[in-house]
Amino acid sequence: MRVLKLHASLRYALSSALFAGLWMLESRARQQAETGLEQVQQQISMLQAERTALAAENTRLIELDQLKSKFIADAAHELRTPITSLNLRLYMLEHAGPERRPHYLAEFQQQLVRLSNLAEDLLTIARLDSFDAANDFAPVDLNLIAEEIMLAYRPLAEASGLSLITQYTPNMPPIPGDHRRLVQVGANLVANAIHYTPSGHVVISTALNIPAKQVYLEVRDSGIGIPASDLPHLFERFYRGKLVHQTNIPGTGLGLSIVKEIVDLHGGTIEVESIEGEGSVFRVCFPLDAASSSMAAD
Ligand code: ADP
Repeated sequence: MRVLKLHASLRYALSSALFAGLWMLESRARQQAETGLEQVQQQISMLQAERTALAAENTRLIELDQLKSKFIADAAHELRTPITSLNLRLYMLEHAGPERRPHYLAEFQQQLVRLSNLAEDLLTIARLDSFDAANDFAPVDLNLIAEEIMLAYRPLAEASGLSLITQYTPNMPPIPGDHRRLVQVGANLVANAIHYTPSGHVVISTALNIPAKQVYLEVRDSGIGIPASDLPHLFERFYRGKLVHQTNIPGTGLGLSIVKEIVDLHGGTIEVESIEGEGSVFRVCFPLDAASSSMAAD
């Protein structure tokens, strides 16, 4: 009888221990399964995020590809116009009488200039695509840029009967940038100001805005101005304004798109104010880096 009782309590103890052991095993297995499930869920959401990012990148690449195709088609179209004109002038030169030849020769030269300007602008755009801001930037003084542009464009302004005025803010802190490309920004703006100003002046000025931590390069003219309906399109490639078409002023429609691209690469912004018949102001603003900001604040 005692043996039987002992067996019963032993069996009870054994089954309790077994039950506890099984329970512990089960809860550990459950914990492990839950952790594993969590990890799988994390991996799934990471894969989903990667897939969404890849899909967005794919859409961006398709859009870029479409933009490139459109650019090539537009460029080919723009190149065809002066080439057709050159062919025509060449034919006229060959067949016209000697008295008309100087006229056709002048037109031929005009079209040649147009073609070479277009090729130059297209080359600039292609080079901007491979521009590496991180490696090509160095401290740049906007006053030096303005001075260089003034010296380069003074002869053209004088030949056009315009006064080219400079107003520099002294002791401008430098901005991180690419000197040659920033000269191109100013040069394109000043060239436009001269082309689209029949009389009066063109003013190149620099300014510093300490609270906004920015420096400005501004080109102001007393020219034909820009109709409000043109303003939203000015920086599109190959866009030429309504007044320009009416007055037949030559150009490629690429100058301001190049300006915008270079300003964007410098993290800057560009503002335009214009009144038709009175003139225009183009203002490019560049951010100062931390060192220049504290130098300006001192
Ligand atoms: P382009 O001068 O070769 O036509 P841009 O891209 O430089 O090409 O300029 C685009 C258009 O912006 C011009 O066709 C012209 O209508 C307008 N524009 C630019 N600058 C001026 C300016 N200073 N005064 C008047 N119109 C301007």
